[in-house]
Amino acid sequence: MQTRRFGPLDVEVPVIGIGTWNMERDDERAAIAAVQRAIDAGASHVDTAELYGNGQVEEMLGRALAGRRDRVFLASKVLPSNATRAGTVHACERSLRRLGTDHLDLYLLHWRDGEDLAGTIAAFEELRGAGKIRGWGVSNFGVGDLEEALAIAGPGKIACNQVLYHLGERTIEHELVPWCERHQVAVVAYSPFGSTRLPRHAELDSIARRHRATPHQVALAFLTHRPAVFAIPKSSHAERAAENAAAADLALDERDLAALDAAFPRGRWRGLAMI
Ligand code: NDP
Repeated sequence: MQTRRFGPLDVEVPVIGIGTWNMERDDERAAIAAVQRAIDAGASHVDTAELYGNGQVEEMLGRALAGRRDRVFLASKVLPSNATRAGTVHACERSLRRLGTDHLDLYLLHWRDGEDLAGTIAAFEELRGAGKIRGWGVSNFGVGDLEEALAIAGPGKIACNQVLYHLGERTIEHELVPWCERHQVAVVAYSPFGSTRLPRHAELDSIARRHRATPHQVALAFLTHRPAVFAIPKSSHAERAAENAAAADLALDERDLAALDAAFPRGRWRGLAMI
């Protein structure tokens, strides 16, 4: 499994991880089996949030990670409505209890909505000092938001920005990815298949055939070919979870990248999109 240093954190993280949004709607045994299969295949960056199933997904992950916690890079997120100075600390402690662990590897502000960013960042630093999180980051931040966070926190503190990125939504390539590369902030691509279904395209099929891979694997390899980018596909099917994990070792060549660039054009800058 290909790993990379995660932004400023002194840790190697697999290029492909595991998303968990809406997993509470799936059959729990199948979802747990899929998470465990992906971890065993090396896709050990597990992404969750207090939002998901209103805490149910964190609880389910607590069961899925039993005996595997030390192999996992575990990320959760605080809702902006909880992200006050004190509220962030309490939300983190609730997430830790649900997940059955004493620390998170990564804690993110889920999106911006009227929170006091300086208070959120102070709470993140307090949690880091107390050993309850190893690092912190943000999600759904545009360049202006990142500049604001950087001015508050100083360099080398924002571990990542988790943002919408898939073949049909490449607008972050204009400014956001270059900004993150310059400031050593990891970019985590959420909804890498567009959240519902990967678009069908003859070019995807033909590149997949050439590499004896699947279109989903080609899509993930395209998104993560830049060294700052990680992806967190969600699947509650063990065989798909293993398929997604294996994409970390699929290397596309310049011809493939150019063909995909033409088939799924980046388009003009349209502002940061989010789900
Ligand atoms: P994805 O783009 O990962 O797509 C998930 C869908 O693709 C599911 O229907 C899944 O079905 C299907 N799928 C997965 N793998 C395969 C495969 N190999 N072949 C065929 N179908 C497949 O969607 P998400 O929106 O869930 O995004 C991924 C993660 O990103 C989330 O789960 C969450 O952790 C994070 N996220 C973060 C957000 C934020 O604001 N920070 C917002 C949205 C997502 P099935 O499960 O049945 O296999």
